[in-house]
Amino acid sequence: MTESERKTEMVASEKKSKGHALVLPYPSQGHINPMLQFGKRIASHGRLATAAITRFIVSTTTPNAGHVAIETISDGFDDAGFASNFLTNRTRAFTDNIYPATNQILLQEMNWLASVRRAITIGPTIPSVYLDNRIPDDHRYAIDLFRPETSACKSWIASLPPASAIFVSFGSMATLSAAQFAELAFGLAATNRPFLWVVRSSEKAKLPPGFPDSTVKKNGGMLVSWAPQLELLASGKFGCFVTHCGWNSTIEGLGLGVAMVGLPQWTDQCTDARLGEWKEASRRAMDDGGSSDRNITELLDKFC
Ligand code: UDP
Repeated sequence: MTESERKTEMVASEKKSKGHALVLPYPSQGHINPMLQFGKRIASHGRLATAAITRFIVSTTTPNAGHVAIETISDGFDDAGFASNFLTNRTRAFTDNIYPATNQILLQEMNWLASVRRAITIGPTIPSVYLDNRIPDDHRYAIDLFRPETSACKSWIASLPPASAIFVSFGSMATLSAAQFAELAFGLAATNRPFLWVVRSSEKAKLPPGFPDSTVKKNGGMLVSWAPQLELLASGKFGCFVTHCGWNSTIEGLGLGVAMVGLPQWTDQCTDARLGEWKEASRRAMDDGGSSDRNITELLDKFC
């Protein structure tokens, strides 16, 4: 189907459908995926959902977003990077070029927010298969901005006993100092346990000299530049997750019931690190009639 046929079909089904939601994620791994998961939930309630993603992101990855349509927008950084005042730019790009009605919707939404001053909570925004399993084929996130070393990770965990290894990951953005790397390397060596440590290529030079050959071998560990984190956490092979407490990593660890050691670095991560045991509560929230499910239904009934 061509792009214009797809749009014509979308307009036709929008007329039939009760409404159409637009999600506008900040262009990073930790924002696009949860927003697309939210879009999948909206679509599963019989509404249309479209995600506006920047040209650069769409040119570097192929989003697999189920029933969520993807529109590309320009934030002025089509070749690399993203605009720091992204919300203003992307809203303007979308309202000027694609969806003139959006301005009015945003205004209505802001007026409504101001009048009720109530925030409603949704989530956790991890694929349905790990929670309520009510969205067919929702097994994975839509994008990976880095290439995961999936088969190497899977063969590495295959022979591990349950809950025996340590998974270490600091997400897509955090940068650690060489001193933090050295401390972490020392700590991992002292556990005498196998570990899988995600060290992004841009961070690799900070590993202590000799670490990959000595400690990694001694502990039966592995270093990768990106991993299928959610799948690994769900594998049951990891008894401990050393995390920077990014919001997604936190809800993944909590949702999948893996004990966490939090090393928060900045922004919301210190708050996230304070969350407690949550596995059952997060499933209940997403389930039919759970708090997130009720809030999404309420939101859609009001606007779509
Ligand atoms: N992630 C992944 N593989 C990795 C490291 C991270 O797939 O090797 C995913 C992780 O599952 C999470 C996201 O990247 O969904 C990181 O988001 P988070 O909010 O935890 O941190 P951020 O990257 O925004 O700092």
